[in-house]
Amino acid sequence: MKKSSNVYDAVIVGAGPGGLQAGIYLGRYNFNVLLIDRGGGGRTRHARHVENYLGHRQTSGGELLDIGLEQVKSFNVKVEKAAVKNITMDEHFEVHTEDAVFPARFVVVATGVRDNLPQVENLGKFFGTSFFTCVDCDGHRTTGKKLLIIGNSFPTVRLAFGMKEMYTGDVTLLLMIYDPPDDYKGALAEEGITLVKGRPKRLIGEEELEALELEDGRKVPCECVMSNLGFKLNDDFLGELSFKKDARGFKYEVNTHFESSADGLYIVGPLNTGNDQIVIAAGEGATAAIDIKKRLLEALL
Ligand SMILES: Cc1cc2nc3c(=O)[nH]c(=O)nc-3n(C[C@H](O)[C@H](O)[C@H](O)COP(=O)(O)OP(=O)(O)OC[C@H]3O[C@@H](n4cnc5c(N)ncnc54)[C@H](O)[C@@H]3O)c2cc1C
Repeated sequence: MKKSSNVYDAVIVGAGPGGLQAGIYLGRYNFNVLLIDRGGGGRTRHARHVENYLGHRQTSGGELLDIGLEQVKSFNVKVEKAAVKNITMDEHFEVHTEDAVFPARFVVVATGVRDNLPQVENLGKFFGTSFFTCVDCDGHRTTGKKLLIIGNSFPTVRLAFGMKEMYTGDVTLLLMIYDPPDDYKGALAEEGITLVKGRPKRLIGEEELEALELEDGRKVPCECVMSNLGFKLNDDFLGELSFKKDARGFKYEVNTHFESSADGLYIVGPLNTGNDQIVIAAGEGATAAIDIKKRLLEALL
């Protein structure tokens, strides 16, 4: 195991919008900064049509990331391709990859989350173009379309009413096992939302999505799908340190600068209790970086 003799002012883990924006700020302060990413991209890589980022009429997550990485490098941030396996705390933080250990005064964790997706054939073909997982990201793209909502919980029932209210009168709700209370079934019928029970098997369509086939062979016509099956945090490497989490013990609590309960370790993006959007992750990365700058300067006196 190679241990870097250099103590970085900050190590950033994850090169999504949160980590890249933190890198741009910290690099522009001329600090000694390392950005580590395992490669392959996170959720932002899947965002093929981004229409809600200020100043971009339409872009893609991939384009934002590629330009962002060039920006980060242009401010002399060192970039390392590796998966972070562990973070420990001794005199400084120590950020461990398979082959090396990187000491750091401050750490920004920006590793994002991953969607729980149904096991359906042809998912890759339609993911991000007509198969969606995020209302704030892609709800607008379902406007006026034949929409199928997939889920397995009461919040999915609530989502069906919300999607009907905001985007389209043509909503079908597919629940796998969960059976809603009878009064909600009645309310769905009153709203004209068709309730289907079953397990999804295959997305059907040549160029455009046409239907979802269920395991029992039934086909549910649809032009787009909003899947609502939750997500997991990319945080396996954080087990060594103890953190304050939300009431469900799921997401990380942070202060207004996005510092977690571990002094000097910041958590930006959807790992914390805030919302999951590119512009929000980027704003949190900037806020964390400004706070780190303040603390590095305070340490001089
Ligand atoms: C289909 C789709 C469409 C979307 N559309 C929009 C949209 O239009 N507008 C919008 O605002 N948001 C959109 N989003 C949400 C957006 O992608 C997230 O808000 C955003 O990804 C959060 O950024 P992040 O920096 O926290 O994480 P991510 O973008 O997920 O980046 C995390 C990075 O961490 C790296 N990483 C993970 N684990 C490790 C590890 N152990 N070691 C090293 N590196 C690691 C990954 O490789 C990745 O590069 C969409 C999401 C999806 C799935």
